[in-house]
Amino acid sequence: MDKKKLTVVVPCKNEEEVLPEFYKRIRKVKDSSLDAKVYAGILFIDDGSTDQTLRVIKELAAADDSIHYISFSRNFGKEAAIYAGLSHADGDYVVIMDADLQDPPEMLPEMIDVLESGEADLVGSRRVTRKGEPAIRSLFARLFYKLMNKISETEVVDGARDFQMMNKKVVKAILSMGEYNRFSKGITGWIGYKKKWLEYENVQRAAGETSWSFWQLVFYALEGITAFSTVPLVISSVIGLTFCVLAFFAIIFIIVRTLIFGDPTSGWPSMACIIMLVSGVQLLGIGILGQYLAKTYLETKNRPKYLIDESNL
Ligand code: UDP
Ligand code: MG
Repeated sequence: MDKKKLTVVVPCKNEEEVLPEFYKRIRKVKDSSLDAKVYAGILFIDDGSTDQTLRVIKELAAADDSIHYISFSRNFGKEAAIYAGLSHADGDYVVIMDADLQDPPEMLPEMIDVLESGEADLVGSRRVTRKGEPAIRSLFARLFYKLMNKISETEVVDGARDFQMMNKKVVKAILSMGEYNRFSKGITGWIGYKKKWLEYENVQRAAGETSWSFWQLVFYALEGITAFSTVPLVISSVIGLTFCVLAFFAIIFIIVRTLIFGDPTSGWPSMACIIMLVSGVQLLGIGILGQYLAKTYLETKNRPKYLIDESNL
């Protein structure tokens, strides 16, 4: 059987400390078992690092010609880096790995075996514990997955990492989803195909710091919800509708009461009803309009997802 090619895509933002260690670990796995199965190359995506990350990558690339890199003109975010990596990867298989060694390279041979056997088109990794993570972060993450799976038809796997290896079919499918607001956990769910999740224990960052603050994660979660569910807008419509119904019964109640008992303080109840009805109708209208507008606004700008400053491809 012909040896296939594997491209390891590594998004890096300010990872100068950890990159040499990352390379050492990958190298070890390559020498011990990976090289027997595939030709493996690394594609680093420097996502607008402000430290010496690019210099470190260039040094590695100078010493090893299976290493390539793309450097962005500024920070475009990990999702953009993943997209760029998938677009430029030329391997039969592509795997996305964090630079911080939270994704154990030792799992690569096993992932290759799964794809080779045809058991799955995408083999991902799933953290079964969130050991070493702040408790509040884990709690919100759990809640997010619960909520997301309730309100979206796309399945989002709890604890699934971006550490996923896929064949060409899946790469093509992911690239065909050209949306600007990318939420890869939703995208992998949406495309379908056969998937297999390997479970592993959470590993702490080898060095450096996570570039995600708590609030960044919250906004990321909100982005995920709006990208793969229109339920929030539906909720606003439902509230508007409820107001209308309430106002309707209030109006009937006021009319009947006035007819039977007369109305000593005339004016204010009917005014309250009218305000409620009108504002309800408005909310309903805005809710429906918003459903269309929110979806189209960002996408119609059709901006590039990233801009390349330099590369050795
Ligand atoms: N990353 C990136 N662009 C960003 C933020 C992060 O390319 O804007 C990279 C980062 O260098 C790392 C990976 O994405 O290789 C995961 O980032 P991090 O470890 O900070 O996230 P966590 O593991 O805490 O989810
Ligand atoms: Mg990390």
